[in-house]
Amino acid sequence: MSVSTQNIAAAAAAIMSSRYVVAMTGAGMSVESGVPTFRGEGGLWTRHEPPKPNAYQAFLRDPEAWWRRERARSAEAWVVELRRALEAAVPHAGHYALANLEKMGVLKSVVTQNIDGLHQTAGSRRVIELHGSRYKMRCVRCGHKRPRKSLFAHAPPPACERCGGPVKFDSVLFGEPIPPEVLAAGRRETDAADCVIAIGTSASVRPAGGLPRIAHANGALLVEVNPNTSSLTRSCDYVLAGPAGSVLPQLLAWARDDPDGSLALERPTATPFQSA
Ligand code: NAD
Ligand code: ZN
Repeated sequence: MSVSTQNIAAAAAAIMSSRYVVAMTGAGMSVESGVPTFRGEGGLWTRHEPPKPNAYQAFLRDPEAWWRRERARSAEAWVVELRRALEAAVPHAGHYALANLEKMGVLKSVVTQNIDGLHQTAGSRRVIELHGSRYKMRCVRCGHKRPRKSLFAHAPPPACERCGGPVKFDSVLFGEPIPPEVLAAGRRETDAADCVIAIGTSASVRPAGGLPRIAHANGALLVEVNPNTSSLTRSCDYVLAGPAGSVLPQLLAWARDDPDGSLALERPTATPFQSA
């Protein structure tokens, strides 16, 4: 699907005349990096048994048993597929375009539902990970984080070095609330925004999906980048109905006043392990 040049140019002009632009990204942002979405065509839950809704409660009930299951790699099939895809994933041109827009001062931050760390690898600096990070472990009692060495668990992690509480992956489980300070940080960004670019999100996961709606209700412009319609589409001021990997570099080209995209994409080499 190709998005018309007029659409891109109009959205880019609106973005460039905004004061505080925030990108909100969902699973669709990483599809072109080889990481499947959960829902929809080709989605993990479309092809596999959907997840158990009470995974977090099962962890809290018996963290040791939960880790024993992890160790035996008896995790659900969709989790195994997601982890293999995450291990192989590298950023695509859309991730680099967002990092370049931040460097230009156009984009203030990325608020993401993704756990894959691809924004940071591409060089984005202000990234709020609403659903946690694949590169970290977190204590459920005090919230203390430490690096996660491997996506597959070989041994249960030691208890939290700060408070002795049970430790899990930082990525949120089904039924697990987003840590309040992380949600507040995301909300601060969308409250400050006068323009939100919603990229690759069905906006159906609460509370993350509510943030672009709240921003829009408070007067922010809403720009959508998604090849399919979402629950946000009807509310959007600009709809760029194409994949993130081609639409975002075009937006960057217009923002640079380089509509042919002849300037090279800068590809910084950050490693998310450094920020763990
Ligand atoms: P979703 O699976 O509900 O929706 C994905 C959206 O991406 C859809 O609207 C789809 O039309 C769109 N899309 C598909 N291909 C695209 C492309 N090339 N460019 C742009 N958009 C594209 O995802 P969600 O709303 O993010 O909710 C699911 C939750 O699952 C997320 O909150 C996230 O935490 C988690 N998740 C994360 C990853 C990851 O870290 N990469 C992967 C899968 C799921
Ligand atoms: Zn702790």
